[in-house]
Amino acid sequence: MENKNDNFKEKFLNYSPDEFPNGALVTNDSKIIVYVNSYFTTELLWKVDDIVGKNIDFLLTKPSCIFFQSYIVPTLSHEKMCQEMQLTIFNARGIRIPITVNAAVGEDGYVYWSFFNSSKRDQLYDELIKARERLIETTDELKLLASVDDLTGLLNRREMKYQSNLALKDALSEQHLAGLLILDIDHFKKINDTYGHLEGDRVLKKLGQLLTSQSEKTDLVSRFGGEEFLIFRPNTNKDDMLLFCKKLHVLMADIVVGTISLKGSIGVSFFSERMTFDDVFTQADSALYNAKELGRNRTEIYSNN
Ligand code: GH3
Ligand code: MG
Ligand code: MG
Repeated sequence: MENKNDNFKEKFLNYSPDEFPNGALVTNDSKIIVYVNSYFTTELLWKVDDIVGKNIDFLLTKPSCIFFQSYIVPTLSHEKMCQEMQLTIFNARGIRIPITVNAAVGEDGYVYWSFFNSSKRDQLYDELIKARERLIETTDELKLLASVDDLTGLLNRREMKYQSNLALKDALSEQHLAGLLILDIDHFKKINDTYGHLEGDRVLKKLGQLLTSQSEKTDLVSRFGGEEFLIFRPNTNKDDMLLFCKKLHVLMADIVVGTISLKGSIGVSFFSERMTFDDVFTQADSALYNAKELGRNRTEIYSNN
């Protein structure tokens, strides 16, 4: 019976390196090219006579030539093979083509080279790099969206808590007195009811800008909710805080809606060791409650007496 393998072997003997979709090249021990398959003529457009008989160096770009001499030649000499080397070669028209090269030293001392065009791979790599950059940009945008209040651009509640707790650690380690103020607009509902929600929004934005412009660079300014704003001051004292609040009361009054001049009540508290943001927030909120009770448009500092 006819053996299937015999059939295959017979056919296989008729195959030549020209059938393969990659470059095959052989150099002698002086690095002179002694053979190229048809890939070099069909894909790289060389004429056989222009390439066979030349030193392999002439195919390579300058950086590839340096890499070839300094790495590939010694590797072949010691290990008799090298794999997945990245080189750039010229085609007959002088176009640079990135290739991946495997090479092995044969028993006859000649070096047998396989060349794979890696342009597509490089393209894919470039696309991956670009996709990664886009992802980083999108992540940054999302982080920003997740950390600011979209009406005023101030820190939102979650980010304010997070950043204040970090800044608090620094303030305590540097033995600075840190303070927190809560500002709640007085009778804001009346502005909305009289002039409409959009006008209310405009007032919130204006107040946000005012608070930012009056704060120190190291202060953290937040719209904590509705018509309630927070400022964390990492390096302050009672006098500085009272002066700052006084200025805010004066400047707020310059924001005018119809016949209403904006007013607000402020509660203040200071951090001492082992107090968290939430502890001080609760105290400042209680001081704010007192400010409202005592007639609004004023500042109260928390005291536990
Ligand atoms: P008080 O002096 O006691 O603080 O009175 P108030 O009217 O300022 O407080 P109240 O809590 O009764 O009303 C707050 C109002 O703020 C009600 C709510 O509709 C309004 N508000 C909350 N968020 C927004 C917003 O994003 N835009 C606008 N325009 N209004 C808002
Ligand atoms: Mg309120
Ligand atoms: Mg209010």
